[in-house]
Amino acid sequence: MHLLKDLIDLILPPVCYICKRRLKSEENIICNDCYSRIRLLSPPYCERCGRPLPTPDIKVCNTCIIERHPCSYIRGISPYDGIAEHLIILLKYNGKIGTAKILGRLMIQAILKEEIYRNCNVILPVPLHTTRTRERGYNQAELLGKELSVELNIPLVSDALIRVRATPSQTKLPSEERATNVKDAFVVNKQRIELIKDKTVLLVDDVLTTGATLNECARTLLKGDVKEVLGIVSVIA
Ligand SMILES: [Zn+2]
Ligand SMILES: [Zn+2]
Repeated sequence: MHLLKDLIDLILPPVCYICKRRLKSEENIICNDCYSRIRLLSPPYCERCGRPLPTPDIKVCNTCIIERHPCSYIRGISPYDGIAEHLIILLKYNGKIGTAKILGRLMIQAILKEEIYRNCNVILPVPLHTTRTRERGYNQAELLGKELSVELNIPLVSDALIRVRATPSQTKLPSEERATNVKDAFVVNKQRIELIKDKTVLLVDDVLTTGATLNECARTLLKGDVKEVLGIVSVIA
């Protein structure tokens, strides 16, 4: 097997997905230089939704002060720009699923730093509608969820939530329409209810925009007797 890989590497040397430079033997998917240039979100951020805050003197952002969201805690790894944006585009639209390893690794580092995530006992990806999954061939949130599940040793249940409505992409809508767009878009899969009942769920997605999707998933799960829902996303737009 190794011999075959070595032979393929010799004929088609692996290159960095971002800068296209030839990878060194210890590098995987992207080169160390591109990896080090991924911008990471740093505190202060809203202790509920994870959005960056202008000052450390406040604990929650303006939106979270007004409303208590169903998803009680969300963290994002990067702002949606530069290398992180590039990785997301490759993952979602170019079939470069190896990028889930890089994004997943960063998410795991963030999760391990925060005590609150230790309560999570099941991982759920934000589901795509079956039509979208068929077109794309995979659900990128599920790929990220798999990375987390293996490293954190927390079971992944990919089909506990089902997207029953094919909604237009959130990114194409003005922010005030996004909550309505995903309203009642999800249901709990009755056949999986025992796997999530009374559990603290870690909900995984690639991009957070207004948080409408994560919160609608959380609202649906809490109605299905889930104890609590925390979220983790690769990027916050
Ligand atoms: Zn590179
Ligand atoms: Zn907030």
